[in-house]
Amino acid sequence: MNDGTGAGADVTGAGNAALTRRWQGVMAGTYGAPRLPLVKGRGTRVWDAEGNEYLDFVGGIAVNALGHAHPAVVRAVSEQAASLGHVSNLFAAEPTARLAERLLGLIGRPGRVYFANSGAEANEAAFKIGRLTGRTHMVAAAGGFHGRTMGALALTGQPAKRRPFEPLPGDVTHVPYGDAEALRAAVTPRTALLVLEPVQGENGVVVPPPGYLRAAREITAATGTLLVLDEIQTGIGRTGRWFAAEAEGVEADVVTLAKGLGGGLPIGATLAFGRAAGLLTPGTHGSTFGGNPVVCAAALAVLDTVEREGLLGHVSRAGQRLRRGLESAEHPLVREVRGAGLLLGVALAGDLAARVQQAAQARGLLVNAVAPSVIRLAPPLNVSDGEVDLFLTGFASALSEVHAGAPAAVRGGPSGAFTSSIATHCG
Ligand SMILES: *Cc1c(COP(=O)(O)O)cnc(C)c1O
Repeated sequence: MNDGTGAGADVTGAGNAALTRRWQGVMAGTYGAPRLPLVKGRGTRVWDAEGNEYLDFVGGIAVNALGHAHPAVVRAVSEQAASLGHVSNLFAAEPTARLAERLLGLIGRPGRVYFANSGAEANEAAFKIGRLTGRTHMVAAAGGFHGRTMGALALTGQPAKRRPFEPLPGDVTHVPYGDAEALRAAVTPRTALLVLEPVQGENGVVVPPPGYLRAAREITAATGTLLVLDEIQTGIGRTGRWFAAEAEGVEADVVTLAKGLGGGLPIGATLAFGRAAGLLTPGTHGSTFGGNPVVCAAALAVLDTVEREGLLGHVSRAGQRLRRGLESAEHPLVREVRGAGLLLGVALAGDLAARVQQAAQARGLLVNAVAPSVIRLAPPLNVSDGEVDLFLTGFASALSEVHAGAPAAVRGGPSGAFTSSIATHCG
């Protein structure tokens, strides 16, 4: 797919190297060196500035639910932008109300929706809802990721991201993920909220044991603590259900959404139920752009398309195909394949994820080294069987290249211990 030559394309000053230099000359240093400039996308494919084609299994970090340039999203955005683009929250726009109605309808309970523009902001709103209970103590999971603004970072359980910004807004206890007894010990009648991801995405697609979310629900119910489920990565069909927590039949007090919801447009949503729904009152919170009608129209197009094209079932089947393909190759570098639906983590026998990512890219496959030893796969929900098969062939070749060059300890290690811990309860 990618001929890898890219030869001579830089004469225009818009080739890969030139665009990368421009980017690095002016962009804040938050992201390090970009992997590639991309200039065009269609479905599961993207092209770089030199015309090389890639199969995109990064999906804008689990954002591009329908792939690139999906006609339903293009149409919804174009029509809305051409009729009413932005009104502020001093006025009501119909697409915003319709999206809130749709989301509550999908969850199947009455509630209230606060719209923001990102995942971190959705969790900031949850943090403030927690404070409005009158309690300050919060519990979150080690390794969990909830965003990088100060409140969301206070909930995030990754020390390297937190340390430069301490002291963070306070009174958050982090407990080991997947350990119900640790929750039982940490959550008390002083605890405002417990926040958990149904699957820890940024931590390397970590799946908790079955029954964990149910235990979290029971424990928080007993202490009058709000259960906040961060479905920013797992929600909107990613695991083959609208919301991953449906697999355990758990009804949270607050659900946060973002990534896949806007089909590539920036949106966050905080859904609150029961008494949590009444805590945000006039003056307590707000966002100028939140609920922007163009972005809401895009999200409605995503929801309509997922429903119309039966994508929830497709995600389950395509996820199985991808997982079985990865497992059946029994590649010595692959220690485990885990996750749910089309959110999969390929755990490697060693810290080789960056090298696998690079080898895959050279073969025209975009994947994400989410942790030193884990590759995350999050293709569009409508990825075709043919694209999955094409991916499997190229990825096996990338693994073989890295394996051939890996230290002997990795090549000869106890790598036959191939296992699968796909969360059947999340699938
Ligand atoms: C990505 C992510 C966030 C943060 O979203 P941003 O839009 O980057 O602020 C929060 N929680 C989870 C589970 C995520 O995956």
